[in-house]
Amino acid sequence: MNLLPAVRSFLSSPKQLLIDGEWVDAKDGRTFATVNPSTEEDLVQVAYASSVDVDRAVVAARAAFESGSPWSRMTPRDRSHLLWRIGDLIEAHADELAQLEALDNGKRVEAARDGDIATAAELFRYFAGWATKMEGTTIPMSVPGREFHAYTRREPIGVVAGIVPWNFPLLMACFKIIPAITAGNTVILKPAEQTPLTALRLGELLLEAGVPAGVVNVLPGFGDTGAALVAHHGVDKVAFTGSTEVGKKIAAAAAGNLKKVSLELGGKAPNIIFADADIDAAIAGAVLGGYFNEGQCCVNGSRLYVQRGVFDRVVEGVAAAAAAITVGDGFDPAAQMGPLVSQEQHEKVLGYIRGAVRDGAVLTAGSADRVGDRGYFVQPTLITGVDERMAVQTDEIFGPVVTAIPFDTEDEVVAAANNTVYGLAAGVWSTDIGTAHRVGARLRAGTVWLNTWHADDVTLPRGGFKQSGWGRELGSFGLDDYTELKTVIAELR
Ligand code: ADP
Repeated sequence: MNLLPAVRSFLSSPKQLLIDGEWVDAKDGRTFATVNPSTEEDLVQVAYASSVDVDRAVVAARAAFESGSPWSRMTPRDRSHLLWRIGDLIEAHADELAQLEALDNGKRVEAARDGDIATAAELFRYFAGWATKMEGTTIPMSVPGREFHAYTRREPIGVVAGIVPWNFPLLMACFKIIPAITAGNTVILKPAEQTPLTALRLGELLLEAGVPAGVVNVLPGFGDTGAALVAHHGVDKVAFTGSTEVGKKIAAAAAGNLKKVSLELGGKAPNIIFADADIDAAIAGAVLGGYFNEGQCCVNGSRLYVQRGVFDRVVEGVAAAAAAITVGDGFDPAAQMGPLVSQEQHEKVLGYIRGAVRDGAVLTAGSADRVGDRGYFVQPTLITGVDERMAVQTDEIFGPVVTAIPFDTEDEVVAAANNTVYGLAAGVWSTDIGTAHRVGARLRAGTVWLNTWHADDVTLPRGGFKQSGWGRELGSFGLDDYTELKTVIAELR
């Protein structure tokens, strides 16, 4: 494996917590190992933040936020320039960050560099533009005989805890940090226990770019670290991406001081292919939509619904493409798909596939056995003969597992597609623009793709209907959840 010197050097020493601009050990000295999912080998020891460290970070983030601090005195233009500088630094370190991401998460180095890392840099630049454009409004008042000037201001909320998952480690960290600091908040980031490395390297780059001490703190740890942040009365907002199960716990735990909560949770997206679709494009879209990021993506189209007349053709096409995918180490240029992130995830995904076979479903592509004897590899699967009650059809699996079910009518497929607690994404394939837009409007999901999948931009808001979450991230809506709206009324005497 051809590791860059910067990556070797980063991995040569145990990783610490970033609190108040300093790298420090956990107060109780605890550490955990982060693992390379392609080899199952430990990469490096990482400090494990306890509630004591959470207290330290909250004190630092609060002090950095307070009026009069260097951060509070920075102008919107200062913040804009700072954000742009960080984007440049990420781009300059793209190869190194991509290697770290591939080592820690398993994804292919090119996928990390051209996807995760490039988007992270772009996200800093996109929000650099917003820092100077957070405007209020002037609002007329009608009080007979008196005159007023009323206006709104958008102000930061305070200390934001960002808690993120392992599927896009750097990018998810950026989804939380960037809008938070654009609006002038301070942040405590808790990366996922499986993938803390790029968030820690980002912490170094933020200091190098000139982010003042305490504005962004990074606390690796497990669920208990996240729970300590969510329970802390010094935290004003939690921004979470992860499972619906943990999202519900966070919503409940946040009630103590009524901290603001935004949640981007699970999905089980329906991908609907009508008989009049461009079938080759729909097959390619189903493959990308189903298996992108090793299937570990909450907006993947894991439930395929295909109109009966083209069902066999679509299933054959998707199955052939799935079988042709080469699974291997993220550093192997021949690999088209890496391993799953962890042993736990590997066992869970294989368990779902075995369960489907036990329930009488058919593996049209893929296997219920592990690929190879080392690393958390799974061959992408396509499962037919499924009914709506099977776990493989109802649960978010977060692996390269797609089910296919035939349908006859539009009403039938809309009802089936919406028959889920989730509402994150959905898709429709049809060359009839009426069908595409009408069905798109009937699907209860935060993102709907028509004749495409995973088409994306940092300009687009994203988030979930139903149990897929609260709030929207990115785009012009992306700052709303990181600001308080203040109404100011002045009497003109
Ligand atoms: P996944 O199923 O994708 O691993 P989780 O929802 O379990 O997602 O975890 C996402 C993030 O939430 C991780 O950083 C994890 O450590 C954190 N987490 C897990 N449990 C809790 C909790 N009770 N409170 C706060 N954060 C938690």
